Amino acid sequence: MKTKREISLERARVLKTRIQDYLEARAYIPKGLEKTEINKKRKEEILKIMNATEANWNDWQWQLRNRIRDVDTLRKFLNISDKETEEIKKVSEVYRWAISPYYLSLINTENRMDPIRLLAIPTVLELQDKSHGLDPMAEEFTNPAGAITRRYPDRLIINVTNECAMYCRHCQRRRNIGTSDRAVSRSVLQKSFDYIRENDEIRDVLITGGDPFTMPNQILEWILKSLKEIPHVEFIRIGTRTPVTMPQRITDKLCTMLKKYHPIYINTQFNHPVEITEESKKACEKLANSGIPLGNQAVLLNGINNDKFVMRCLNQELLKIRVKPYYIFHAKKVRGTLHFNTSVDDGMEIMEHLRGYTSGMAIPTYIINAPGGKGKTPILPEYLLSRGKEQIKIRTWERVVIDYENHPTVDLRKLIEKDE
Ligand code: SF4
Repeated sequence: MKTKREISLERARVLKTRIQDYLEARAYIPKGLEKTEINKKRKEEILKIMNATEANWNDWQWQLRNRIRDVDTLRKFLNISDKETEEIKKVSEVYRWAISPYYLSLINTENRMDPIRLLAIPTVLELQDKSHGLDPMAEEFTNPAGAITRRYPDRLIINVTNECAMYCRHCQRRRNIGTSDRAVSRSVLQKSFDYIRENDEIRDVLITGGDPFTMPNQILEWILKSLKEIPHVEFIRIGTRTPVTMPQRITDKLCTMLKKYHPIYINTQFNHPVEITEESKKACEKLANSGIPLGNQAVLLNGINNDKFVMRCLNQELLKIRVKPYYIFHAKKVRGTLHFNTSVDDGMEIMEHLRGYTSGMAIPTYIINAPGGKGKTPILPEYLLSRGKEQIKIRTWERVVIDYENHPTVDLRKLIEKDE
């Protein structure tokens, strides 16, 4: 008969085989934290072309002012063919784009399929879809007041601006992005606060945009203070992509201000491990050290992260910088972004290869946003195979099928009273 140690060693050997394919694949996945020297060199090249300094680079307002937004400027930094130049010009007539110098520095100039390049630089593919709309979530019909979107019983969104550090090519809110930067006026924001004050079931407010962190600290503080003064608002969430696209924005001053309005939660959007760099790590650590829990809402994107190993690697890298993977959103059918869409099978394959294979902390929920604003719908591989009154059938992450007893819940009060 085998000893306990022999059985344990045998199981450990099997478990080791379960991870070999991932370890081999992971070695080839580009990761920002392993590119620090390359990123630094690229930053220096960009600063030289822009005739700017390290101090400029670290100043978020400089980053915002100096976003690259026309193809002739872009050609100073990247090798863009004449054909591509013409295509980008055509796209610019329909959809605007802009890239912060920081995000530009992350592009691998040698690789046409580089994820950062695909996420940042327009392609003619954006113009090919004419059949879908810009508002599949019918957000226009969920705006009861001010700049609010309300889709759930106890929480809502305020869209405070349409400005972003970068205009991502996959943006699911491109209808908000429009053609020029537009912060929502104080009077419209005031109407949003009034609505929340009058509806005391609202306990959770998400501030989003655009990107709220493109706004100055004073305005952000006014928004937070106004919400904090409403007694039934229990906590505030902020959606921002600046830790990814312009981490310089996360300054000590901003963190000191945010700390005054706890509980605050921040969700960001890293889509690929190459976006997790020393600079974004520093930004996330600053926020975490200010007592702000951080979550990540990745979007499942064709050619970027629709791969079981890239997504596992992304989630593991996120935990290293204190960001908890929260959601993977199935990309919506938004006009101009359809080339980024994937099948649901891609998402299911990713989820199937997370559970059991890596820490539960690294497993987000895969979500389809039901069209027409009908809400977030979680999509999971089947682990519950059948459900009888006394027995259920489950299958484990290794696809072992097991019968499991299903006892009815006892009435605890009756049990205690009977004993007395
Ligand atoms: S930061 Fe967010 S809202 Fe702004 S363009 Fe990117 S995905 Fe869209």
